[in-house]
Amino acid sequence: MSRQFFVGGNFKMNPNSVSEKRALTELLNQAHLDPSVEVVVSPPFLYLIPLKEILRKEIKIAAQNCYFKDSGAFTGEISPVQLKDAGIPYVILGHSERRTLFHETSEIVAQKTKAALASSLSQRETGKTTEVCSEQLKAVVSVLSEADWSKIVIAYEPVWAIGTGKVATSTQAQETHADIRAYLSSAVSPAVAKSTRIIYGGSVNKGNCKELSVQPDVDGFLVGGASLKPEFVDIINATL
Ligand code: PEP
Repeated sequence: MSRQFFVGGNFKMNPNSVSEKRALTELLNQAHLDPSVEVVVSPPFLYLIPLKEILRKEIKIAAQNCYFKDSGAFTGEISPVQLKDAGIPYVILGHSERRTLFHETSEIVAQKTKAALASSLSQRETGKTTEVCSEQLKAVVSVLSEADWSKIVIAYEPVWAIGTGKVATSTQAQETHADIRAYLSSAVSPAVAKSTRIIYGGSVNKGNCKELSVQPDVDGFLVGGASLKPEFVDIINATL
């Protein structure tokens, strides 16, 4: 089964003004975007609905977080049920900034992933890459044995590459993506391993996206800083 190339833009806590938001929207609405790529942008909660309304329909919207309960006394949180009700089909879970700054453990990420799916939403430098990936994946896999994996996109993002300008080489990315696929094959099933999209994130830009995109196990990107710039369009079109 061929995997559709996926490019996600993680806007993080940006943009900071209505005019920046307008410029970004106009850029994406007017650009030629490869129609075979699934494009998803992830603004802060405040802009989820406005962006959904003004962006061209082919671009999907993702939240940057959600809680694992449906409703209740959880000040400052948002539930997967609420996201679904608002027509938001994706949510980014387990980002390293959430893990380090907001102390989210792999178990919490697993609970959130399970809750999001239930709502039908859709360290190489220290030599620890495989260990870290396995620990994080194991926690998710252990609560998702019966899940619909077609709704899951896995992002491999080496922490040392996020926002640093230091990108993994295409060989490093390919090796880790292949390891993740092998892990899925043994821990879930060969069919799930074959069909699940594994995307790379960490200082992707227009200069390095093409080489990464031709790696057999790189099925797209999660883009931070560059998703706020015109080069996001070049990244979406990396495989053209
Ligand atoms: C990210 O935050 O998911 C990310 C990949 O950021 P950047 O592209 O800026 O490294």
